[in-house]
Amino acid sequence: MPTAHFRFHDTLNFFLPRASKDRLINHDYEGRVSVKDMIESLGVPHTEIEMIVINGRSVDFNTIVQHGASINVYSTLFVPQIPNPEPLRPPYPGRPKFILDQHLGRLAAYLRMMGFDTLYRNDYHDEELAQVSHDETRILLTRDIGLLKRSAVIYGYFVRETNRRKQLAEITVRYSLKDQVIPFSRCMKCNGLVEDVPRESIEDQLPEGTARYYDTFHRCTSCGQIYWKGAHHQRMQALLKEVLE
Ligand SMILES: [Zn+2]
Repeated sequence: MPTAHFRFHDTLNFFLPRASKDRLINHDYEGRVSVKDMIESLGVPHTEIEMIVINGRSVDFNTIVQHGASINVYSTLFVPQIPNPEPLRPPYPGRPKFILDQHLGRLAAYLRMMGFDTLYRNDYHDEELAQVSHDETRILLTRDIGLLKRSAVIYGYFVRETNRRKQLAEITVRYSLKDQVIPFSRCMKCNGLVEDVPRESIEDQLPEGTARYYDTFHRCTSCGQIYWKGAHHQRMQALLKEVLE
């Protein structure tokens, strides 16, 4: 039976069973198999991979694995300098846009707070998440490994952290968001853009007393939600400061 020899680097070991982490994997296989299919059968979704090197040569996902191949698989954390690197996907164009699975509602609200275009619903089906991510060039954030193995998904990431604040810090680092933050420019509830509004025009929609203490008000152009710099705003500002530092 043909065998291929795999070495997964740094963060990719997260997806491997304990016995295979950080070591050479001798993988027996049958038939004609692409390197992408073989890597995913070992547990690592294609979205996590930045470069594949077979026998010292950078290759694309469709490369058919030959018997005896020595295969190194790299994440974005460290990519070796190889002549003629074969990109696995086009570079992500422009400012990051996201779509999140139903378990990441709080993270979605935080990303919107930082001004990133972020789609989230608690009733998206897997197929819909994959398709919208593909069609709108959105980065799919999820804690479902199977979802990231769908071929429609070009840009995606498995969120390692389970704590919501740590998740925000993790995504901020992974996608270098720090310098692209436009705080409080999007509605945390619906992702709509937020505009300044004079107090007089919304005074009747405010809870009793609030309008007396604040001067600056914002309204979501999509759902009409009103925001002001109250206690909630201060908590969010403190969170933002913590994450960005
Ligand atoms: Zn809104």
